[in-house]
Amino acid sequence: MPENTTSPIQWAPKVKQDKLRRLYESDARGIRDDDLLNEVAFGLYLRCTSILEVTAAVKGRVKCHGCAAIITHAREDHLRCPACGWKAAWKDYQHSYQAKQLFGGAALPFFQAYVAHFNITGAYQDKLLAIDELIHQFHWYHKANQALPEAVRPAAANLIEGKGLVAVLAFLDALSYGEGSTVTPATPQP
Ligand SMILES: [Zn+2]
Repeated sequence: MPENTTSPIQWAPKVKQDKLRRLYESDARGIRDDDLLNEVAFGLYLRCTSILEVTAAVKGRVKCHGCAAIITHAREDHLRCPACGWKAAWKDYQHSYQAKQLFGGAALPFFQAYVAHFNITGAYQDKLLAIDELIHQFHWYHKANQALPEAVRPAAANLIEGKGLVAVLAFLDALSYGEGSTVTPATPQP
């Protein structure tokens, strides 16, 4: 048996508020901290990748944690990778992501777009813009009796540490923008 048949199910953590705060503060002062930028950009990339993985798993396509092959499943008791033999009980898999805000929901297109366009070797401003657009997005819901979709939950609640939606929104409101900023506050759109 290959040794990875019981590899643990692990998910990327939310990005720490302090890192984003320092990134925005230094940018507002005209200081371009590439290391900090890359750390935040890559942290968000990993987090989005975990969100995409969990969202696909709930819809029946689990990415194997032994070899990354796709295991299609129909809520059976056990997941088993035909390629490498990795296995896990579906209830254990579910338990691994619950209460961690890893379901993409109505903000899924924004998480997908960030991953699709992610380029760690891109220009400083492009990377910061991508971060700014992502963290200011919302889960948009279109209710039957409304002409326009409604921004219900901040996507940042899936991405950034913070206790509850109010705390996450307060954190976003307090991010620094100044004369040296390479970005202006993003305007979320569905
Ligand atoms: Zn596998």
